[in-house]
Amino acid sequence: MSECLFCKIGGKEVPAKIVYEDGDIFAFEDIHPQAPTHILVCPRKHLASLTEASAEDAALLGRMLLAAARLATERKLTDGYRTVFNNGRGAGQSVFHLHLHLLGGRAFRWPPG
Ligand code: AMP
Ligand code: ZN
Repeated sequence: MSECLFCKIGGKEVPAKIVYEDGDIFAFEDIHPQAPTHILVCPRKHLASLTEASAEDAALLGRMLLAAARLATERKLTDGYRTVFNNGRGAGQSVFHLHLHLLGGRAFRWPPG
């Protein structure tokens, strides 16, 4: 996806603070952090949202979650952290390349806004 911002970040065409990457996924600091830790974990494969994922993406989705958990451990988010997929505009999704938000370092309310 040549016009996709997060594909460009994964391909190093657009700069970002990348905190983890491997052959399948990459993670970077959110440019407008909503918590002291706010990292976005993405697949290299362009999927617009969770809705576009299929059974063949099951391992990829699992790797995204495990990467988020590892980053939370590295950042010592021992009081808890939140992992969020905003799916669709009504849920607040603004970039249509699948990404998992990892938020931590402050208290969170429930239900989310
Ligand atoms: P969402 O609203 O769930 O689609 O999340 C998109 C996130 O991407 C937001 O939290 C934005 O702050 C973040 N974002 C947008 N552009 C960039 C960028 N160039 N580098 C890092 N994060 C970005
Ligand atoms: Zn993309």
